[in-house]
Amino acid sequence: MTTSAKRYIFVMGGVLSGLGKGIAVSSIARMLQSKGYRVSAMKIDPYVNVDAGTMNPTEHGEVFVTKDGLESDQDIGNYERFLHTELTRDSYMTTGQVYLSVIRKERNLEYRGKSVSPVPYIPEEVIRRIRHASKVTRAEIMIIEIGGTVGEYENLLFLEAARMMHLAEPQSVQFVLVSYLPIPAKLGEMKTKPTQHAVRALNSAGIHPDFLLCRAERSLDMPRRERISVFCNMKAADIISAPDVDVIYQVPLNYEAERLGEKILHKFGLKARRRDLADWRKFLQQSHRSKKLVSIGIVGKYFSTGEFTLSDSYVSVIESIKHAAWKLHRRPQITWLDAEEFEKDKRALSKLAKYDGVIVPGGFGSRGAEGKISAIKYVRKHRIPYFGLCYGFQLATVEIARDVLKFRRAQTTEIDPRTPYPVIDMLPEQRAKMAQRDFGGTMRLGEYRCRLRPGTLTRRAYGTTQVFERHRHRYEVNNRYRAVFERAGFIVAGVNPERNLIEIMELQNHPFFIGVQFHPEFKSYPLYPHPLFLAFVRAAAAKRG
Ligand code: GLN
Repeated sequence: MTTSAKRYIFVMGGVLSGLGKGIAVSSIARMLQSKGYRVSAMKIDPYVNVDAGTMNPTEHGEVFVTKDGLESDQDIGNYERFLHTELTRDSYMTTGQVYLSVIRKERNLEYRGKSVSPVPYIPEEVIRRIRHASKVTRAEIMIIEIGGTVGEYENLLFLEAARMMHLAEPQSVQFVLVSYLPIPAKLGEMKTKPTQHAVRALNSAGIHPDFLLCRAERSLDMPRRERISVFCNMKAADIISAPDVDVIYQVPLNYEAERLGEKILHKFGLKARRRDLADWRKFLQQSHRSKKLVSIGIVGKYFSTGEFTLSDSYVSVIESIKHAAWKLHRRPQITWLDAEEFEKDKRALSKLAKYDGVIVPGGFGSRGAEGKISAIKYVRKHRIPYFGLCYGFQLATVEIARDVLKFRRAQTTEIDPRTPYPVIDMLPEQRAKMAQRDFGGTMRLGEYRCRLRPGTLTRRAYGTTQVFERHRHRYEVNNRYRAVFERAGFIVAGVNPERNLIEIMELQNHPFFIGVQFHPEFKSYPLYPHPLFLAFVRAAAAKRG
């Protein structure tokens, strides 16, 4: 086989969900990238939803937006951060998407009168998409994460696609199973049985893992490695210990310590072209060495319930704060503040005084909005650095309209369509979509140009004249109020030139008060923090001293 052929690694989960499969995929990818290969990653989600945009963050976690405007799973964000790359909609698929395209082809007579049974047509469509993504990303090694856990009905056809690819090209396809080894409190010892069952479940789909990543609270010891080896019919060297970590960016180094990268390449008949995790190592040392704190409060509402917690709902925001803080040699301390608490009891606002900086991230609807507005007023008056992201920008605009311009009943029309002061209003093209109940994938999505105004804090932070940032919204600052806002010292620092849309505003005479209509958190990388997060955390650190 030639070395120019593409290689594929399927990563699946066993025993339970939430094992950090996305981090495992990202880490394998980063590790192989550091060995001189062009690596990319993609995700398959078993949902019928066509994209993640129609799911509530408490249900599914953050909705990550790619530059070409796909509302995807948060794992795509992890791949981008670890690989320092930008992916597109080609790197994500759901059951819904796959069926939709097969049905569309059937309606177009592309199957030429055949009966279109799920097997092989669904797996074939999956394989077509994998190959297509590998082509557009020019990946030499493509890592494919299959959502859910093995043994579930919903990802069977994806496993079937993986099996078929392996059958066609056994030398080019590998399988990694991420499994879990519980340590029951009463027993105090690590148990391997659920993992043995997971391997068997995978075997019954016709797949045998090349590597087993053993997720557990602790490292795997030798006796257990041997037991798994015998019972799961795998070489002990292919059983990799993957204990919990404090910092997710540690994982590639842990795998490297187990020589996983070399082993994968060896099975593919490849060799490392270079060894280069030095910058990554340095970045991690920096994160560990940072002792001085910087404390950031995030005022949000997607806190609780289900499988997901707040940290899932705002994962990109959290990671962006960390990247910036570590760069500045600070230890980030991030606190969740429930916006609704500020509505119930105004005295709770004084809690905000102890933060070095406050963020109101993206959001939707009226629940918690007044609490966010009160929090913004507090930080504006108390000169606490503030960074408003999307809804956090729109609500800052409402707050300034009410308190500074004295438009007491100012509101976003998202909450009150009949407000006398619609300072935030629906984008014109969105009205028709809403009237037709056309909700899925129809917001202003993806990357747009933003021209920066000379002399602003924003422009200094970016150090450039124009930027491209990613969007996800239906509402927008109403240009009618632009002049009055500017007279009040809330100035427009960035505009989308194609449509004259306001993308950034900043308050003069405040240490740091910036609102952005886009989501800068989607473009922050561990080694390259986003310039605005860097400026915000720098202002926060300066406040703390
Ligand atoms: N709800 C607001 C809008 O649709 C903000 C969206 C967001 O924060 N992502 O414009």
